[in-house]
Amino acid sequence: MKGLLYRGARDIAYGDAPEPMPEDTRSAIVKVTACGICGSDLHIYQGHGFSEQTGYCVGHEAVGEIVETGSGVSRFRTGDKVMISAAVGCGSCPSCMAGNMNACEIRGGRCYGLGPGLQGVQSDYAMVPVADFGLAKIPDGVSEDQAVLLTDNLPTAWHGLKGADIKPGSTVAVVGCGPIGLMAVEGAYLMGAARVYAVDLVPERRAMAETLGAIGLDSSEAKAVIEEQTKGRMCDSVVECVGADPAIHLALKLAKASGTVSCIGVNQSMDFKFPMALAFIKNLTFRTGTCSVPEHWHELIPLVQAGKLKPERTISHHMPLSEGAEAYRMFDARENGAMKMILKP
Ligand SMILES: [Zn+2]
Ligand SMILES: [Zn+2]
Repeated sequence: MKGLLYRGARDIAYGDAPEPMPEDTRSAIVKVTACGICGSDLHIYQGHGFSEQTGYCVGHEAVGEIVETGSGVSRFRTGDKVMISAAVGCGSCPSCMAGNMNACEIRGGRCYGLGPGLQGVQSDYAMVPVADFGLAKIPDGVSEDQAVLLTDNLPTAWHGLKGADIKPGSTVAVVGCGPIGLMAVEGAYLMGAARVYAVDLVPERRAMAETLGAIGLDSSEAKAVIEEQTKGRMCDSVVECVGADPAIHLALKLAKASGTVSCIGVNQSMDFKFPMALAFIKNLTFRTGTCSVPEHWHELIPLVQAGKLKPERTISHHMPLSEGAEAYRMFDARENGAMKMILKP
């Protein structure tokens, strides 16, 4: 089969990928019909990914149609149209049963396409371990594009918002207005935020956030403007969606005394200088970590079906999977208004 393979820094190419092999009888094979490129895939593309190895298939956001199920799969059958949770758990340990598959006690939380251990889903076919636990049928009233966004980005934004303790009337800042940041802006209003500041270096991204009702601010002016507009009080909640050290430092500065900072951007630093004195004196709450995708589906699916959340507005391009190399290049360069990129095998 064909797929997008990581071959080295700035070299992800369409080519022959390993055939999907069921892990055990609980696995399913899904024919991918659409997949997304995630901001975290750019870490791999830029050459500082999560594995030293090359030649593996990338990607962790996909939907498709089941073509094969193992004898241990009971909830799904061939022909079902499904969305694949980017987060993978064993489904039977206490953490997984509680919905927290990232804390899976059997194999640790896994994700597709971060290395050769679990091949990525930017490919013709995907092997889904423990299919009964990691898949959901695409619900009625949810489009294929929306389903792709339910496999990772929208639940991640929701996870970040929940971690930020947003309450009715809150003043919120979202740092980073890529696809997840924009979904966080939309979700913050749904959770009752009265005012949302959307901070980004890129004018087009700030403009998109403004169409969702946010106040767009460049990173360089954000602290001063928010200070002035809140009369020095700052933000109740800050959702950080970049992961770079300066963005996290800015997020910590934008929070009010006793405020909450929720950090969902991927940061790979082992020696980040956390300003403990600032956090201590401000009584800040700081949360971070990845999202266990299916635990949010019961809330997000009805909101998408009802049109309260429209995450598909972040999609800028649909391209053939065979043009994946160009899609990565454009997304990385933020060229042509590149935001959420959807690839079709
Ligand atoms: Zn992702
Ligand atoms: Zn588990």
